[in-house]
Amino acid sequence: MNTGRLSQRRIYADHAATTQLCDAAWEAMTPFLRENFGNPSSLHSWARKPRKAVLDAREIIARCIGAEPEEIFFTSGGTESDNWVIKGSSGGLIVSAYEHHAILNAAASEVKRGRDVVYAGVAATGLFDNRMINAMWKPGTGLVSVMAANNEIGVRNDLKALATQAHQKKTLFHTDAVQAVGHIPINVRECGIDFLSASAHKFNGPKGIGFLFKRKGLELSTLIHGGQQESGMRAGTENVASIVGMAAALKWNCDHLDEHAAHLNKLKSKLVQGLVEIVPDASFPGSSSHNQLPGFISVSLPEHPAEGLLHMLDLKGIAVSSGAACDSRNTQISHVLKAIGLPADLATCTLRISFGVENTSDDVEAIVSAFKRLLNR
Ligand code: PLP
Repeated sequence: MNTGRLSQRRIYADHAATTQLCDAAWEAMTPFLRENFGNPSSLHSWARKPRKAVLDAREIIARCIGAEPEEIFFTSGGTESDNWVIKGSSGGLIVSAYEHHAILNAAASEVKRGRDVVYAGVAATGLFDNRMINAMWKPGTGLVSVMAANNEIGVRNDLKALATQAHQKKTLFHTDAVQAVGHIPINVRECGIDFLSASAHKFNGPKGIGFLFKRKGLELSTLIHGGQQESGMRAGTENVASIVGMAAALKWNCDHLDEHAAHLNKLKSKLVQGLVEIVPDASFPGSSSHNQLPGFISVSLPEHPAEGLLHMLDLKGIAVSSGAACDSRNTQISHVLKAIGLPADLATCTLRISFGVENTSDDVEAIVSAFKRLLNR
């Protein structure tokens, strides 16, 4: 039927907010949505396949990050993993000022319970300076939490240096690696990470599932009391299909890390070049760190408010973000851009464009020409 409307190509360039399920995850999940529906804890044979699938998934995930299977705890996602570590650990806390609200608000709730929390500043490059740990540390500090990669500017931190610094102070180290896992290589053992949070929907897995890595032998209080699932620390019948899908998605990404990164960075270079030609005074928060996530662009376009641009691009079928997705209805200046010292007028003109593997060079050309038209250049 001809509706008379021109069909519009839709381009999704907001992969830092969420990603589409990959084929590997979809195929791995479907048998567990209907056919193999048994409860992994049952004693009869219906439990066999789901139980094995959960065991296998734990092993696959552990292998992808250099952990042991018993160090992986399934959760409902990044927010839950972050809350578990912050609320379940003991002693004073040092958290970076540009953490996701899952960390910042969990830490704020700990302050109300009388816990000592300090917020460590971030360099203008967007990198967290590990010397801040020494500067903020005091007797009784129990945990340092610094993200692996920031969700608004894509800057990646040096996890090994951070963990080493925390350990020199006999303090544990947690990293919110929600934006990093599945996108850059991470080996918890080599880096000396004690706790790590991850979320499947950021790496082409399903929503509502994630995991927490907890180094063997470390104390963390039980999150959900009930049955014996997750070693009795996070009880409740396992979300089998999602767990299986998460493992398949992570494996797929980890098996193709270099290939994906090369593709994403090619798209990024092309977009940056196109944007600079249109707006010569465009600037790119986080880029001076020379250590951003693949395909991740934060761009400030002076005198062009980001929110207006976002909606106009959306009308043209192009999805980008003006900051963290959870903040998109909040017109306050992003705490991340504030933390790296971006002036308020530039911060309100800052867009986040994050590519995924399915984006193409044609997508970049379409985005650049949309900007050209919108900015009358
Ligand atoms: N941490 C970071 C860095 C994130 O980017 C996000 C999501 O945007 C979260 C935590 C929350 O993860 P989830 O959506 O799985 O709860």
